[in-house]
Amino acid sequence: MSQHSSPPNKRQRVDDADDLGGTSEPVTTRSPSLWFDDGNVVIQAEATRFRVYRSILSLHSDILADCFGLPQPEGEPTVDGCPLVHLSDTANEIQDVYGNYSVYDHTKPLPFPAVRAMIRLGRKYNFTAFQEEALRRLQKEFPQELNQWNEKDKYVFTFLEDSPSLLFELVNFAYENSIQSILPTAMTWLCLRYPLATIISGSKISDEKTISLLPGALEMCLIGRYGLCDVIPGYVDQLVAAYADFIDHCHDIRECAESFRMFLSEVFGAHAGVKGRVGSFQWQDVVEDDVVNSLCTSCGPKLTDKYEELRINAWENVPGYFGFQTWSALKDL
Ligand SMILES: [Zn+2]
Repeated sequence: MSQHSSPPNKRQRVDDADDLGGTSEPVTTRSPSLWFDDGNVVIQAEATRFRVYRSILSLHSDILADCFGLPQPEGEPTVDGCPLVHLSDTANEIQDVYGNYSVYDHTKPLPFPAVRAMIRLGRKYNFTAFQEEALRRLQKEFPQELNQWNEKDKYVFTFLEDSPSLLFELVNFAYENSIQSILPTAMTWLCLRYPLATIISGSKISDEKTISLLPGALEMCLIGRYGLCDVIPGYVDQLVAAYADFIDHCHDIRECAESFRMFLSEVFGAHAGVKGRVGSFQWQDVVEDDVVNSLCTSCGPKLTDKYEELRINAWENVPGYFGFQTWSALKDL
């Protein structure tokens, strides 16, 4: 959207009944940042009015183009000579989508309400570009590829502004709007970041307000978390079986076997620290380097390769823990 033609007043202007010819209409305010003097349509969402450009909105949305193309019936209200169009969306959503210039800066994290509005209004009005950009950010933040997941710091968001309730709001939104492509990763992240009690009770953002998961999303998360908790303990049997095959080429069976026992102990011990282990999976997160280094030079690399193989298999199962089929079967409806 182009620059506005005159700087808006800091204070929002309160419109009177305007051209409506009476005082029965509720008081409305003009958006301080989206009121362009040369705009040619006035959009009203809740009690806020936005004077914007039909041609630019039409360029982004065929649905709005059709709406603007309809002849204005006789006697319909106008504002400053512009047709008045009421939308059922919230004023914040309109502001987040139309007035959010940082959406064009792909290096800048966006607040989640803006991303949510881009998808919701994007779907409603066919704002394809906004919808695609919002989904792109979400899918990069919550990747399906294991190597991309490995690279992420599980406590830092890159494409979204963090907040205490971000993962709860995001999982609810993706669940309600069938954005399946990000759900297994987002739910895994939530399980990794929060203790069970918080997952169940929700994230308390103030004395008065707690953001909780929707019942269906909570059920998925709890079932998925149960599966994730079994991942690392499930490695133990397979590591024992693999080590038995390595022994023939072991350089020092007595010392190496003791190191292997410690390796197993740390892998299995990871089960106790579910909060810190779920979803990370990497043996480096579970086993101390000096334990790995004390395995013999024949068994050590084979064992860590085996661990990596198990982890790759486990990642393939992550959608299944949350009730989906496979990564490739996830669809955004
Ligand atoms: Zn060995």
